[in-house]
Amino acid sequence: MSPAEAAIRIEELTKELNTYNYQYYVLANPTISDYDFDLKLKELDALEQQFPQFLDPDSPTQKVGGDITQRFDTVRHRWPMLSLSNTYSEQELRDFDNRVRKAIGNDFEYVCELKFDGLSISITYENGVLKRAVTRGDGVQGDDVTANVRTIKSIPNRLKPNGYPDLFEIRGEIFMHRAAFQRLNNERIENGEMAYANPRNFAAGTIKLQDSAEVARRPLDCFLYFLYSNERNRLFSNHWDSLQAVKAWGFHVSEHMALCSSIDEVLAFIAKWEQGRYDLSYDIDGIVIKVNDYGQQEELGFTAKSPRWAISYKYKAEQAETKFLSVSYQVGRTGAVTPVANLSPVLLAGTTVKRASLHNANEIARLDLREGDMVFVEKGGEIIPKITAVNLLKRKPESQPISYPLTCPECGTSLVRKPGEAVHYCPNDEGCPPQIVGRMQHFIGRKAMDIEGMGDETIETFFKQGLLHNITDIYSLKDKQETLVRLDRFGQKSIENMLAGIEKSKEKPFEKVLFALGIRYVGETIAKKLASHFKNMDALAAASKEEIESVYEIGERIAESVTEYFAKDVHREQLERLRQHGLHLAIEEKTNERLGDALSGKTFVISGVFEHFSREELTSLIESHGGKLLSSISGKLDYLVAGDKMGPSKLAKAEKLKVPIISEQELLSMIN
Ligand code: AMP
Ligand code: ZN
Repeated sequence: MSPAEAAIRIEELTKELNTYNYQYYVLANPTISDYDFDLKLKELDALEQQFPQFLDPDSPTQKVGGDITQRFDTVRHRWPMLSLSNTYSEQELRDFDNRVRKAIGNDFEYVCELKFDGLSISITYENGVLKRAVTRGDGVQGDDVTANVRTIKSIPNRLKPNGYPDLFEIRGEIFMHRAAFQRLNNERIENGEMAYANPRNFAAGTIKLQDSAEVARRPLDCFLYFLYSNERNRLFSNHWDSLQAVKAWGFHVSEHMALCSSIDEVLAFIAKWEQGRYDLSYDIDGIVIKVNDYGQQEELGFTAKSPRWAISYKYKAEQAETKFLSVSYQVGRTGAVTPVANLSPVLLAGTTVKRASLHNANEIARLDLREGDMVFVEKGGEIIPKITAVNLLKRKPESQPISYPLTCPECGTSLVRKPGEAVHYCPNDEGCPPQIVGRMQHFIGRKAMDIEGMGDETIETFFKQGLLHNITDIYSLKDKQETLVRLDRFGQKSIENMLAGIEKSKEKPFEKVLFALGIRYVGETIAKKLASHFKNMDALAAASKEEIESVYEIGERIAESVTEYFAKDVHREQLERLRQHGLHLAIEEKTNERLGDALSGKTFVISGVFEHFSREELTSLIESHGGKLLSSISGKLDYLVAGDKMGPSKLAKAEKLKVPIISEQELLSMIN
């Protein structure tokens, strides 16, 4: 390659890799497999070594990757958080072993650990108390996400006295178990919210939330795998012993580790987990190999990016090649259209794959998918495999791009796509069969009206028989008993059960009814918040978009969806009928919830971290004394309750608008 050609290729690769880094670290939404990313990175690295005159100090090969966001305080790491060099091949692993041997001789051991697929975190403890948790960021500094990390159950906030150093940092990987991922992601899909591609993205997205209460609701876990402290080498002589101690201090350390005295033992460990990983409840993407002895680690030292005493071996995501046959378009209960690829059946990671998710029109365009293409499918942590690329070598010249349908495949209505959204919707919510059926199924669901004796299939059958057209018809079924008994499959007893279940559902509280309506973006939590703020359906229906948005933690997208819902006459009529059937369309004020009126009529915004209360506790404290929480600072705000580490822009705004700023203590004295 000539220097001129190299310069062009280097620039090309740099641009591409920077984009992938941005998608991976900032958007937590990678569009390339780790394997392909690493191949490109290695190509760039090789070119830069061959043509050092083109090496840019800001080249992607020179950084760890960055995920610093503006919303969190940036904190410098006391010990830099380096990356690990990694490989996919046995040969490179043997090369690593030879380098180690050359440097420190033959008398050493490796520790083999699973490489957990999550996001790394560094947690500082002072005198046994969790002080700070920081993301990797660019390796030198990261985001302070302490409040969020405190909510993770397996990370102790306070340790029992047990011989640990006064000051230490502990590092590990935050992740989400696959089962939790599937459950929560399905809920998101049902609520019309953006789905996450895999547990890692879900965990990364969660740790970056501004609302710690929401973080607390999402089950995250954490394995710890590094200890740093000035005292460390006095207390332990090697990594293995430190992890045993860390376990005794109350941290979650993986039981799947091994001490190996040769590279062949390491390779056996790798081989064992290549298949074994599918039996774990969480995702791993490889094995980390570390030289055990601290003294030997020091001898080996570091490169600019990574320690010379460790390496990671990454498993290739299992891939298969198969023929792409066609796209099916599924319409969900919120009208969202999801394209699904139909494939020639192929064996992948132990199961036969016939379908792959395509997410939305952007994904089809990104892949440049054409009918009859041969495609590569990959199964990572995902439930449904995805198409990673088209095999262009096998493309037929006459193949045609896929044209995304302009109309709903179920009802023929023109599809709409809101600016800035990737998903197409069928707007015919009252006339599109899967939406009607889906909404009724959601309404009777366990988390909504929880109607016993009635299931998804019952709804479908009744809809086909013309017995049900919308949710309100469910409460008229009792007048149609004669028709019901004439249907096959429904005995007298099961009809009675079902009708009793329907009657009983009328006792469900307002927040459940609100959730059951299936308004887009109004999941369980949002329904609860709206119910407790507006108290009844009429007030909510009459509220303007701005009023809804002013509720603590309700965003514009939700507010818009709610006002759109109530703007429709059909919905208002349905609510009127539900009211006549006797459903609860208002909250029942519980007298014991109200502890006093000291804050009655006053509005508050809470910001920062507090000494004695969590933000959630402060919220309920304020509300139970008659106060109301707002989401942002405005001239109308009565008080800003400020804790530690409040954002400087909030403070400035409050000062400019002359909003009184009070402490946790001052709030308490207002109540007493
Ligand atoms: P990479 O991101 O490919 O450079 O790999 C390095 C990352 O692997 C670290 O920053 C950690 O987040 C992660 N990792 C997962 N499990 C381990 C482990 N057992 N030991 C060290 N790092 C790990
Ligand atoms: Zn439709």
